[in-house]
Amino acid sequence: MALIEIDDFSYQYPVSDDFALKNITFSIEQGDFVGVIGPNGSGKTTLCNAIRGFVPSFYKGISFGQILFEGKDLSKISSGELAVRIGYIFQNPFNQISYIKDTVFEELCFGLENLGVEASEIIRRVEAIIDELGIGYLKDKNPFEISGGQQQRVALASILVMDPDVLVIDEPTSQLDPVGTEQVFAIIDLVKQKGKTVILVEHKIDLVAEYADKIIVMDKGRIAFFGPTREILSDERLLDHDTQIPVYARIGHRLRKAGKPVERIPITHEETVVLLRDLM
Ligand code: ADP
Repeated sequence: MALIEIDDFSYQYPVSDDFALKNITFSIEQGDFVGVIGPNGSGKTTLCNAIRGFVPSFYKGISFGQILFEGKDLSKISSGELAVRIGYIFQNPFNQISYIKDTVFEELCFGLENLGVEASEIIRRVEAIIDELGIGYLKDKNPFEISGGQQQRVALASILVMDPDVLVIDEPTSQLDPVGTEQVFAIIDLVKQKGKTVILVEHKIDLVAEYADKIIVMDKGRIAFFGPTREILSDERLLDHDTQIPVYARIGHRLRKAGKPVERIPITHEETVVLLRDLM
């Protein structure tokens, strides 16, 4: 049984004249790392909100079809249970961090306190996450007074400490510089190594190619492409599509179109180096 199954799901926001999601059908297996790409307004954030049960229950509006989580109708699972099982990381850490706590350590305890977890257990789990993510030096700092990249790492830590089964991460680095982006992806790398199920919306398409095992390309509320990352990036129809594709794949497609013997479209830096060397 798939972990999440979306079956012919469509959704229209209350004050809108078109559906934001149209006949979405696909499934996510336990441990999948799914990258979601596509132009602005194509429905990526709405899809994330559907997967975490916010659409339609929170935003209301009209919906058809259904979403199953472990075989259960998502709309019948309580919002409290969903919030624990499906962690959501916002674009902007300002929306994640409570800012009512004086230190990062207290901030990281906050979610578990709300769940009524015993104090010694909270401290054990928070210390473990701080260690794992290497953010000990932020522990006593005020969440207001750290950089955007540091805040985003604290936001990620505040979700990871809850140990959700699924992480839905919506453009975590859109507000960050290259250093902040690298630091946040070091954490995402850890999450991937743990085998967590991840749904990641990210404009930095080379990072999607590097991390995602599967890719969804959204287009005007529909799924234009869905499948294993290499398969999708090797599909030359993607070149004619209104979405950005990673620079390495683009080089491969260009060379192939120019008649060069490109057997496999490269998706990483290393593969591109090997391809160019072989062609020389
Ligand atoms: P993306 O994340 O790919 O940029 P969104 O999921 O944010 O796309 O938006 C998909 C469509 O839904 C767009 O046409 C957008 O204008 C519309 N939309 C998004 N949020 C709302 C809302 N709260 N109310 C009405 N329409 C919305």
